[in-house]
Amino acid sequence: MAKIGPVTVGGDSPVVVQSMTNTDTADIQGTVAQVAQLARAGSELVRVTVNNDAAAKAVPAIVEGLEKQNIRAPIIGDFHYNGHLLLTRYPECAQALAKYRINPGNVSVGRKDDNNFRAMVEVAARNDRPVRIGVNWGSLDQQLLTRMMDENSRSAEPKDARDVTMEAMVVSALRSAQIAEETGLPHDHIILSAKVSGVQDLIDVYRSLAARCDYPLHLGLTEAGMGAKGIVSSTAGLAVLLQEGIGDTIRVSLTPAPNGNRADEVTVGQQILQSLGIRSFTPQVTACPGCGRTTSTFFQEMAEQIQSYLRDNMPIWKGRYPGVEELKLAVMGCVVNGPGESKHANIGISLPGTFEEPKAPVFVDGRLMTTLKGERIVAEFIAILNDYVESRYGSGPAKPQETYAASNP
Ligand code: SF4
Repeated sequence: MAKIGPVTVGGDSPVVVQSMTNTDTADIQGTVAQVAQLARAGSELVRVTVNNDAAAKAVPAIVEGLEKQNIRAPIIGDFHYNGHLLLTRYPECAQALAKYRINPGNVSVGRKDDNNFRAMVEVAARNDRPVRIGVNWGSLDQQLLTRMMDENSRSAEPKDARDVTMEAMVVSALRSAQIAEETGLPHDHIILSAKVSGVQDLIDVYRSLAARCDYPLHLGLTEAGMGAKGIVSSTAGLAVLLQEGIGDTIRVSLTPAPNGNRADEVTVGQQILQSLGIRSFTPQVTACPGCGRTTSTFFQEMAEQIQSYLRDNMPIWKGRYPGVEELKLAVMGCVVNGPGESKHANIGISLPGTFEEPKAPVFVDGRLMTTLKGERIVAEFIAILNDYVESRYGSGPAKPQETYAASNP
């Protein structure tokens, strides 16, 4: 287990969702705004790059700016190449950050010793800060890889180069963790990651890492890509590992579309955990895909409106209605699966298909509560939703039957 500010990572703690800014860290205002956006979307840790003097100087002001907005997500500094210089030159930066991410593959480029890495670890130990030793195959320690490739080629039964690379990533992470501990960083101040961009590689490397250490692991498919490709690839890799109990924090490294929403990576990370039943963040809407039995787009629009309504209200509901994130809704297109799926939800509506009578039965906790029709179906459904949320989650959990079903036997 490791403590990152108020957030605990590892052990029995919930899997934590984190994200990273893409602003110039030296742009204090822009970075504060984006961290706030990510944190409000649910990012429990936010990483910023600290790549030069201007960025290091900006970090304390960024943390202060966030505190003024009551944003408490711990800020992690991402260091490469010159982290030893920045962390020692700017002690206020080292102090303001809640954790340092060190890439052992590029912290000692061109050196035969580990002095730069040790210098960063010493700052972490002095400030009582945890460190993530983040190996990435795009910047894997080339000296280590070359040595292991040479040894492999001399062995009686050489392994595939891909397997040697995966092993080199694990060795790099474990060896760096050992050096960190020798340098004075406590065992429980270390988190490891070994990111690759291929799903099968990710699964193999993390299985190996998890089997060989008890450090908390940060999971993520590096450079996952854009849109559906990035979301699906990340989900495929992370889901397998999370299902096996591997992973204590996650990040979904999506490439946003130009002017796209950076916070999408947070939403996707949360949805992976919620779909797997590991954590709940927001009420879920089950909606059928639609087919030839429902040729109008009404039910798609309704599903979207309900989803937006939930998204808009969750920031308030989260504090006011504990447990509301477990709520399940269903918006279905016709009678085939509509009533059945609706009965499985807390609140479900089965809209009429093309040739059905224009009325929509609403089920609450598995029982028919009412039937809606006419222009105001969405507004009336939202009113039912609001009443349900208030009565079930408003002042401690009430039995569902006491709310609706009892009055609609
Ligand atoms: S519930 Fe009805 S409209 Fe929706 S996919 Fe199934 S058959 Fe089609």
